[in-house]
Amino acid sequence: MSKNLIIAIDGPAGSGKSTTAQLVAQKLDFVYIDTGAMYRAITYLAIRNNALGNKDKIIELAANSNIDLKFENGVTCISINKEDLTNKIRTLDVNKNVSDVSKIEEVRRILVRKQRDIGSKTTGVVMEGRDIATVVFPNADIKIFLTATIDKRAKRRAKEYAENGIEIPVTEIKENLKNRDQIDSNREVSPLVKAEDAIVVDTSYVSIEEQVNIILNKVKKTADNLGIDVKIN
Ligand code: C5P
Repeated sequence: MSKNLIIAIDGPAGSGKSTTAQLVAQKLDFVYIDTGAMYRAITYLAIRNNALGNKDKIIELAANSNIDLKFENGVTCISINKEDLTNKIRTLDVNKNVSDVSKIEEVRRILVRKQRDIGSKTTGVVMEGRDIATVVFPNADIKIFLTATIDKRAKRRAKEYAENGIEIPVTEIKENLKNRDQIDSNREVSPLVKAEDAIVVDTSYVSIEEQVNIILNKVKKTADNLGIDVKIN
């Protein structure tokens, strides 16, 4: 493949981005990147260093973070300065604070630089987040915006937690999702918005297989138009 194909997937929390993006990447043998893990890892460091609310300190932490992201055995593994933080970034505390940390322009600049760097070194990448199609890769070959009703999203998250032995009331999850959506969609820098040329996929009532197929069909068409040969497993 001469050109690297970039698939950008954005959408609110719980819209099915991770599962969909992982399956699409697997089918295409592309690299899968969960950018939310990076914002979560910086948030974890901010909590640990008592830096919440201290913008300068958080920027310093991000600037001094050498982030390593790997997708192994179905899990996004993240380490910062060689410390493995994979099991520390999906806590309620991180959930509650990540959107405020993600509002900081300089933190975003640092992470976006890293995301562009990773994406450009691949032969094909599926990257998911909130600003991938609008800011990180505005020229992405395929742009997808996933949505789902708040009830569906909260139920999915509750099920995911339950599968990991954590029982959190759906109402509490719903409040956190609403709060994050509100901050993510209204922040000044890189808010969560659909890119003008993105395809909207409402995942409320379609199966994962259907979502994946919608995207793979689009990939096929785009690759054909670009004269790129893609193999779907
Ligand atoms: O995708 P996930 O829910 O793990 O993302 C956690 C948080 O990270 C989001 O609520 C958002 O505040 C932030 N984020 C972001 N930009 C991205 C990815 C995530 O601001 N590209």
